[in-house]
Amino acid sequence: MGGRDACQTAGETPALQVLEFLVLPLFSLEGAFMPDATLQLPSPTPLTSFTEDEIMFRDNIRQFADEKVRPLVKEMDEKGVFDQGLILQFFQLGLMGIEIPEPYGGGGGKFFEAILAVEEMSRVDASAGVVVDVQNTLVNNALLRWGSEEQKKRFLPRMAADTCGAYALSEAGSGSDAFALQTRATLKGSDYVLNGRKLWITNGKEAGLFVLFATVDPAAGYKGITAFLVEKSFPGFTVGKKEDKLGIRASSTCELILEDCQVPKSNVLGEVGKGYKIAIETLNEGRIGIGAQMAGVARGAWEYAARYAQERKQFGKPISDYQGVQFQIAQMATEIEAARLMVYNAARMKDAGIPFVKEAAMTKLFCSQVAERVTSLAIEIYGGYGFTKDYPVEKYWRDSKIGKIYEGTSNMQLATIAKLVMGGK
Ligand SMILES: Cc1cc2nc3c(=O)[nH]c(=O)nc-3n(C[C@H](O)[C@H](O)[C@H](O)COP(=O)(O)OP(=O)(O)OC[C@H]3O[C@@H](n4cnc5c(N)ncnc54)[C@H](O)[C@@H]3O)c2cc1C
Repeated sequence: MGGRDACQTAGETPALQVLEFLVLPLFSLEGAFMPDATLQLPSPTPLTSFTEDEIMFRDNIRQFADEKVRPLVKEMDEKGVFDQGLILQFFQLGLMGIEIPEPYGGGGGKFFEAILAVEEMSRVDASAGVVVDVQNTLVNNALLRWGSEEQKKRFLPRMAADTCGAYALSEAGSGSDAFALQTRATLKGSDYVLNGRKLWITNGKEAGLFVLFATVDPAAGYKGITAFLVEKSFPGFTVGKKEDKLGIRASSTCELILEDCQVPKSNVLGEVGKGYKIAIETLNEGRIGIGAQMAGVARGAWEYAARYAQERKQFGKPISDYQGVQFQIAQMATEIEAARLMVYNAARMKDAGIPFVKEAAMTKLFCSQVAERVTSLAIEIYGGYGFTKDYPVEKYWRDSKIGKIYEGTSNMQLATIAKLVMGGK
């Protein structure tokens, strides 16, 4: 959505009864002004209004996260291992195939529901949040959008039932500059033979299916990049070292090693040489998920801090009686409110079929800033206790840090936003 587009019509989007969608021209007046994407609706509703189904869905996940995930969080963080029983329960609850249509065994839900699931999980544990996030917003999304009917029939029922997914783009030498990747795919008969290494792959330990990017022609630059559906069982595929991390410690982050890994031609996702488009467009959606994860992390820390402030007494009364502490809690709540509204708006835009790239980048950028500020303040409200591992808030702060790094660093989000608000200049 470049600022120079004079006018776009979204087409009919029945769910929202969109009448018109306008992107006002950025440089049509003297000087620049903030690009304005305006939806005209017959009766607009607040962003926090949910359908009955969405409320039930959210409340069920909230209850599950509080009752089943929370008791395991500390131990999973200490050990740096995600509880396998929990992943089974995620599948049983339908959390791993939220948007997969019912005929393929999924929940047939919307992107917005996937986002609610990530937020609610992350309120309790950001590692649980990212397991659900990668599965739904990256892997299932890529399959739904780019998979052939044959691939959808082959993989979607498994993704909804029992197979964890991972998304393998980054390498040791290519992070922000993702399309400088070196993993090579060479066609030999009916198979591609893949050689190279991937780094930092979330869900690497648990995943059975990897959406993995390699180049069929390094000389072609980004136009050689191709997405492959790589199964863990394929010959020549190994999961390597698991990283020992600052935060989201229970979420596995692994190296992948491909040594003459044979991948059938029928496992090319989308077209050969169009992997860059799959990577960019999937990550655009994924960023809303990371925004939801960070909004959830901030909420989780805020809830602990607000409760603690009412319990902890100094100078003979609860610290929440002091205006200084009240103001901190109010500031945190305000920032969380803004972060959530950005997440909900970007997700609703995506579901409505409206261009959302700028909003997704802003959401991830802002929510990760809010998460870091709020979790840091939560530690301060706990005082010295907050600095220890006996209390939950230091973990929220450690978990918040990743929001500014994965799925594009904050600088990369700013680069995208700058390009879009400045009309590509
Ligand atoms: C816990 C974790 C999980 C991850 N999960 C996955 C995953 O599942 N799949 C996957 O493919 N990847 C994953 N990643 C990788 C992640 O996406 C990259 O780490 C990230 O994109 C940054 O790349 P980099 O680490 O190589 O940093 P670099 O690209 O080297 O960046 C280093 C610094 O330089 C800045 N910088 C770089 N280029 C520019 C520029 N042009 N302008 C301004 N600043 C710039 C960056 O903003 C950053 O501050 C994960 C990473 C971590 C830590």
